[in-house]
Amino acid sequence: MNILEKGMDIGFIGLGIMGRPMATHLIQGGHRLFLHSRSGVPQELVDMGGQVCDSPREVAQCAGMIITMLPRTADVEKVLFGPDGVSQGLGKKGLGERKQVIDMSTVSPSETRNFAVRIGQLGCDYVDAPVSGGETGARAATLTIMVGAEESVFEKVKPVLALMGKTITRIGNNGTGQICKAANQIVAALTIEGVAEALLFASKAGADPVRVREALMGGFAGSRILEIHGERMIHHTFTPGFRMELHQKDLDIVLAEAQVLGVNLPNTVATRDLFATGIADGGAMQDSSAVVQVLEKMAGHQLGQI
Ligand code: NAD
Repeated sequence: MNILEKGMDIGFIGLGIMGRPMATHLIQGGHRLFLHSRSGVPQELVDMGGQVCDSPREVAQCAGMIITMLPRTADVEKVLFGPDGVSQGLGKKGLGERKQVIDMSTVSPSETRNFAVRIGQLGCDYVDAPVSGGETGARAATLTIMVGAEESVFEKVKPVLALMGKTITRIGNNGTGQICKAANQIVAALTIEGVAEALLFASKAGADPVRVREALMGGFAGSRILEIHGERMIHHTFTPGFRMELHQKDLDIVLAEAQVLGVNLPNTVATRDLFATGIADGGAMQDSSAVVQVLEKMAGHQLGQI
């Protein structure tokens, strides 16, 4: 019998925009879920059979595999190593059985390597498995998952990850999943900013941005970001999605690593600063496509205002 037929005891900590639908897929996949979130456990997960735990420590005591989906590096550190944290509830589940801690948040690669060492010292495996695909991908279980783990550990956790994602790639050992995600965020942020500039430019020149977007989608400039974020920009629908404050956080992670590496990323710096301006102007909780509003102010023109 393989582990998926048997069903496993899985812990899930952080049930926000992403964690909630991801945990749902695990329950639907036949696993017993032990749940904890600062914002409370959504009733729908309890109704499906998920068990509420009072602390990350309790989650770790009950489960053989513990997944975290939290906003920032400091949140992951607190949940893993803080008072009543996961590390206090880890211990061998049975003879020879190692527990796995899988962090699916987007956090610092350097800190991730550090967390992996500390979890390893407790006799458990660590996996960094950040995702791309947003809320839509989380709901549809089509996330792209970028994994940093030992090969043998990757094989153990892959069937569980496969319930939440479609493209699951082991990049290398601990930290490399987060490096891959950081690279992903450079492409995503700069493309969002590029789409915003292009639509705004065309609109101020008198071309209907709705038609411009449609036309561009068929050529080399076509992308999922032009499709999804471009539409959000045109209609000014900035309900997240992916909050601008989190996208800025990701670019801060990129730039901190880049500084250590001595790599100059001039357009990442510029886009990070545009996000910071949007956040200072009240956009922290809006989707990061709201960066178009910063450019609109600079241009003295709103999309669609022909
Ligand atoms: P979110 O803020 O909606 O959810 C985070 C959850 O973590 C919340 O429910 C919060 O209550 C919980 N939490 C925070 N601190 C906690 C603590 N100390 N103990 C217990 N629970 C705690 O965020 P999200 O949009 O779901 O993003 C989660 C992670 O996934 C982030 O690192 C983000 O960068 C990444 N991500 C998000 C998206 C997206 O489109 N939203 C896409 C890809 C990756």
